[in-house]
Amino acid sequence: MATDIIYLNGEFMPLEEARIPVLDRGFIFGDGVYEVVPVYSRHPFRLPEHLRRLQHSLDGIRLAKPLTDAEWTVLTHDIVARNPGDDQSIYFQVTRGVARRAHEFPQGAKPTVFMMSSPLVTPAREQVENGVACITATDFRWLKCDLKSVSLLGNCLLKQTAVDAGAAEVVMFRDGYLTEASASNVFAVRNGILLAPPKNHLILPGITYDVVLELAGANKLPLEVREISEHEVRTAHEIWITSSTKEVLAVTTLDGRAVGDGKPGAVFRRIHALYQDFKQTVMRRAA
Ligand code: PMP
Repeated sequence: MATDIIYLNGEFMPLEEARIPVLDRGFIFGDGVYEVVPVYSRHPFRLPEHLRRLQHSLDGIRLAKPLTDAEWTVLTHDIVARNPGDDQSIYFQVTRGVARRAHEFPQGAKPTVFMMSSPLVTPAREQVENGVACITATDFRWLKCDLKSVSLLGNCLLKQTAVDAGAAEVVMFRDGYLTEASASNVFAVRNGILLAPPKNHLILPGITYDVVLELAGANKLPLEVREISEHEVRTAHEIWITSSTKEVLAVTTLDGRAVGDGKPGAVFRRIHALYQDFKQTVMRRAA
């Protein structure tokens, strides 16, 4: 296997050689933010949107931007070029840097900037054609879920409940309303209308979520962005999960019960085809 080349604080190096000090606040406090950008045929998908969300996360934790968007863009292309595989998943992480352990922000610490590439694993055909199983849980995470924080313990604990149950994801409710899943956004379809929870502090503003809403709008699919009750989800005709790596997947069982007729629905098939077309068009334009 070819060696992965990563970027750490101004240098490219093999992954095995990369080290960070134990006092990095990312390690001690989970004090940092991250991004994951999918790359198809060596072209980053929606990079400006990911950089905008990274800025939102940095602002949300009061961390000054360590690099300009132009610098991030050059580095992204550089990491892609230095790593094998045409389809990659580029991970960016910025932490508040290295300092003696104290909760308050350190004076003068330099942010740690890290980027790595992994192979992009998109869903198997079988998952697209048959859909996936999900379970449900109460969303017990903090109230700043719009920030893509590396403090992901809540998400990890929740995701493991899904894995333990043989499910792909955990669909969460807070105060009786749908939020999102542990690493994806969630949509429902009822009576032919696509329902999306609003982008607020309770969910991550997904880049794929935006693509789905744009495609629905451009193709005149009936759409409502509003709070969605747990009852509406449990009686939905279709449920979908979306993320940069999962793209759009149909949820065909929820807590062991069939969603709709237990197969990916007609609206899913339409949006999945539109998503694939859209991706191809964007990549062709970038080439
Ligand atoms: N919500 C959460 C909690 C996530 O971790 C992710 C994946 N990063 C998403 C939603 C989907 O976001 P995106 O479409 O930008 O991958």
